[in-house]
Amino acid sequence: MNEKISIGTVIAGPGEKVSGYLSIGYKPASEYSIPLTIINGINDGPILTIISGQHGTEYVGICAAIEIIQRVDPKKLSGAILVLPVVNAAGFEQRSRLAFPIEDEFSGTRNINRIWPGDQNGSLAHVTIHMVFNKVVKRGQYLFDIHGGDIYESITSCVLVPKIGSEVDPAVLGIAEAIGFDTIIEVQNARGYSITEAGLAGITSFAVSAGDSGRLEEKFVEELVAGLMNSLRHLKMIEGAVELRKNYRLGYEVVKIKSRTGGLFYQRVPVGTIVQKGQKIGEIISMDGRILESVHAVESGLLFESFCNPAVNTGETLGEIALLRS
Ligand SMILES: [Zn+2]
Repeated sequence: MNEKISIGTVIAGPGEKVSGYLSIGYKPASEYSIPLTIINGINDGPILTIISGQHGTEYVGICAAIEIIQRVDPKKLSGAILVLPVVNAAGFEQRSRLAFPIEDEFSGTRNINRIWPGDQNGSLAHVTIHMVFNKVVKRGQYLFDIHGGDIYESITSCVLVPKIGSEVDPAVLGIAEAIGFDTIIEVQNARGYSITEAGLAGITSFAVSAGDSGRLEEKFVEELVAGLMNSLRHLKMIEGAVELRKNYRLGYEVVKIKSRTGGLFYQRVPVGTIVQKGQKIGEIISMDGRILESVHAVESGLLFESFCNPAVNTGETLGEIALLRS
């Protein structure tokens, strides 16, 4: 941009890449802040925010954001990219799966991707989201929210696009095609999610996920980074040929497969499989090996997510099926 960008103490002039911290508040004995990098392009263009690590053990997503910081040259960038690689730094530091690990006023911990747009007068979890949304995301026209196979989940690489009202913004679908994954899923009525709340604020937003069980695997990082760099070319922020993937599966609704009893869930069908309604997915067995429950697909579609820990309680989600447009 032909002007400097200042967010708190992080200031980047045209053609500069500057890293620092966004101050959120205080812990009992120290300041609490999260990493922030501003890549300010030499040429004018849109402002795009990349966030990852809302879930602090999704290392593939976090590493993909760090790779973007490394690979994008501000001297060859039009517009600016604001990167928050570890939004849930507390969870990252404590290796705490999913939730922000500091209690929300003695009422347990929170999945911070359910409390957008946050609250400046709330606990650290709420203030984090308030600051990320108001000080960073709202400065831009685009939000990329990168996830990456938390330590409890096995998930098909996919792009999640928010349905605002009855529509998916065509601009979001264009970027999703540039990411190039074979699965795009529409997310409906998901208030409190980053992509919905940013979408309602007029920011073109989507989430993307790749990776499995919290393992930091290069092939998934590269899959994400290649898609993200292609989408930057699609937005004309960096130069180069663009590839748009037109042959993808489009999911329009997600249904859960729930347990009716507790035990050990033995999943027999891997994530990524197209299943038919009624098809056996696995069984829940007792501690002496008796089959307590046979688990079946509740609908036909793509078994796109399941949960890695086989020790299950009554009434828990075992997996999720995306219903596909034909
Ligand atoms: Zn996540």
